[in-house]
Amino acid sequence: MSEKKKKIEKRRKDADLFKVVDSTIDPRTYLLLQDIARKLRIDYYLGAISSGKEAKVYPAKTYDGNFYAVKIYYVSTSASKKAIQKYTFGDKRFENIKASNTKKLISIWARKEFKNLSILYESGVNVPKPILVQEHILVMNFIGENGVRAPLLKELPDEEITKDMYEEILSQIDLMVNKAKLVHGDLSEYNIIVYDKIYIIDVSQSISIESENAPELLRRDIENINRFFESKGIEVNDTEEILKRFNII
Ligand code: ATP
Ligand code: MN
Repeated sequence: MSEKKKKIEKRRKDADLFKVVDSTIDPRTYLLLQDIARKLRIDYYLGAISSGKEAKVYPAKTYDGNFYAVKIYYVSTSASKKAIQKYTFGDKRFENIKASNTKKLISIWARKEFKNLSILYESGVNVPKPILVQEHILVMNFIGENGVRAPLLKELPDEEITKDMYEEILSQIDLMVNKAKLVHGDLSEYNIIVYDKIYIIDVSQSISIESENAPELLRRDIENINRFFESKGIEVNDTEEILKRFNII
C-alpha cells in the first residue's frame, strides 16, 4: 500500500472507531481508545450501555466478532475522589501510592478494579475476565450477546428470581471472602449480572478481608442481598448465621 493510501485508510479507521459519537470522550481518552483498539484488534466501539456515578461502559467489537466491555472512569469528579480516599485508606496494597491529583487517583482506581478482578477471576469467582487496564480505562470480557448486555439482577422479572439464585450468590460471597480474601463492599442487585450464571461486577471498591472496615462492609453486602430477595418473597438466611458460616466474624 502506498503511503498516501495508508494515510487515507488510517483516517477512515479513526472515524469509524466509534459507531455512536460520544461528545464526552476527551482527546486523551480518544487516543487511549485508539491505542487499545490496536492492541486488542478492536474494530469499533458501540454507544455507552451505562453512565454511572464513576464511569461509563461501552461494548467494543473485535475483528473476530467478540465483544469486550470497556469501562472508562470519569477523569474528574469529586465523588470519585472522595470514594477513592475512603476506600483505599488503610488498604496495604495501595499504601505506597501518593497520588497528588485526581487524574492519578482515577488511574489508581481503575488499576485497583483491575487487580481485584484478577484476584477474583483467579480464585474462581464469577466475574468478567479482566483483559487490560490503561490509565483510566479498563477492558474486560463482555457479559451478554452481540453487544447487548445481559440484565442486572435488579432488572429481572420477579418470576425469574429464585432461591437457587440466592444460594448461588451466597456461595460466590463465600468464595470471595474465603478464597480471594476480598470483601466486595458495594454488593447489591445493581452489581450482579444474570446470564448463563450470575456475575459479580463493579469491584473497584473491594477491599482485603484484613482491612479494618471489612466486617462492616461484608455485613452490609449480605444485608443488601437479603433485603432484595426478601422483597421478592424468597426466604433468606439470617445475616449473622451467614457471617458465622463464612467463618470470618
Ligand atoms: P453505576 O454507578 O451505574 O453502578 P459503575 O460506575 O458503578 O456504574 P459498573 O457497575 O461496573 O460501573 O458498570 C455499569 C454498568 O455497565 C453495569 O450496571 C452493567 O449494566 C454494565 N456492565 C459493566 N460491566 C459489564 C460487563 N463486563 N459486561 C456487560 N455489561 C457490563
Ligand atoms: Mn455499579
